[in-house]
Amino acid sequence: MIVPSRRSDKIRYAVRDIVVLADELVKEGRDVLYLNIGDPIQYDFETPSHMVEACYEAMKRGCNGYTASSGVGEALEAIAAEARRKGIREVRDIFICNGASEAIELALTALVNEGENVLMPYPIYPLYSAVAHKLGTVINPYFLDEANGWQPDPADIEARINAKTRALVLINPNNPTGSLYSRETLEKIVELAREKNLVVLCDEIYDKILLDGDEHTSIASLADDVAFVTFNGISKSYLAPGFRIGWGIVSGPRELVGAYNEAIKKYTRARLCANHPIQYCIKPALEGSHDHLTTMIEKLRRRRDIAVSRFNEIPGISCVEPNGAFYAFPRLHIDESDETFVPKMIRETGVLVVHGDGFGQKPGTRHFRIVLLPQEEVLEQACDRIAEFMEKHGHQ
Ligand code: PLP
Repeated sequence: MIVPSRRSDKIRYAVRDIVVLADELVKEGRDVLYLNIGDPIQYDFETPSHMVEACYEAMKRGCNGYTASSGVGEALEAIAAEARRKGIREVRDIFICNGASEAIELALTALVNEGENVLMPYPIYPLYSAVAHKLGTVINPYFLDEANGWQPDPADIEARINAKTRALVLINPNNPTGSLYSRETLEKIVELAREKNLVVLCDEIYDKILLDGDEHTSIASLADDVAFVTFNGISKSYLAPGFRIGWGIVSGPRELVGAYNEAIKKYTRARLCANHPIQYCIKPALEGSHDHLTTMIEKLRRRRDIAVSRFNEIPGISCVEPNGAFYAFPRLHIDESDETFVPKMIRETGVLVVHGDGFGQKPGTRHFRIVLLPQEEVLEQACDRIAEFMEKHGHQ
């Protein structure tokens, strides 16, 4: 038997792990409702055609070799212009990757030594914990405050910073809670980062999916004297997750981020480059029509309203209203762990959701994550089935 590495033991990716259960149900001929995966293309959303055509044209033009490790010029310029529009001034570098996932992994790899810790929001998108386990980084969780619309609590964050803390991860708008952070919260976090010399790793992949007409503030626009890496990409706001394109923007004073930036560059060179022809859809995406967003947000707002009001009517469940991204993280008022309760719920109802423990959560609380991407009638049906299940299990 080939023995896998010890570091692999800790790797969990609940969002995909749950699919094993779904496959069993499908084999049994059950009607499964998929509320588990944050991929709009699996639902009634389509990649804008001008992006598809730009990639096709690039392939026909022969852009099929390796390219510069940080990315192709026109795409880097379009991202730099987007950074300016978002008010990020001290941009030092931009690196295009195979998805924001790769950019996040490179940024953490270039920063943290084994045994050092990174402040990570709980609940968290599980990629971050998987990368931390791979690197031997200690996860230093700060708990998002459910009673305050899932905002981070700067006082809680401050209390957790120690001599080995190197960075703070922020996901805004958030997966899995769908919360959008207030400017005031962001300003307090900037102050902490400045004072404690932390890099702010800010994941803004949902920055254009705002359900209530709010404006998104890039935390990196709030200070010129702090180190930031801002992640974004085309998977969510631009409906192209399978293109596997995302990026990181390093910003901050040269004397502060210069050496770190060089380390990131080494890692980008070591993996050659991101998908070459696909990078040609970045400029058309960022600078072309954004009509798809209007329709997407309208649909998502209606779906959010249905899901949140229905979940809040179910005895044993409460749900904070999300304002961004396409997730909600309803709370289960139960004694049992969601790690055992939710698979039972999935098995009995056929509604595929992801148990809260897969994202990390405040000890003693239980949740599950849903996506708001399915059509209204599917969400209604899912809520009916979950309501029936909860009633059967003693919640009336
Ligand atoms: N960051 C967050 C917060 C996400 O929710 C996801 C995907 O669900 C990603 C990053 C992955 O992005 P990409 O598809 O660009 O790798």
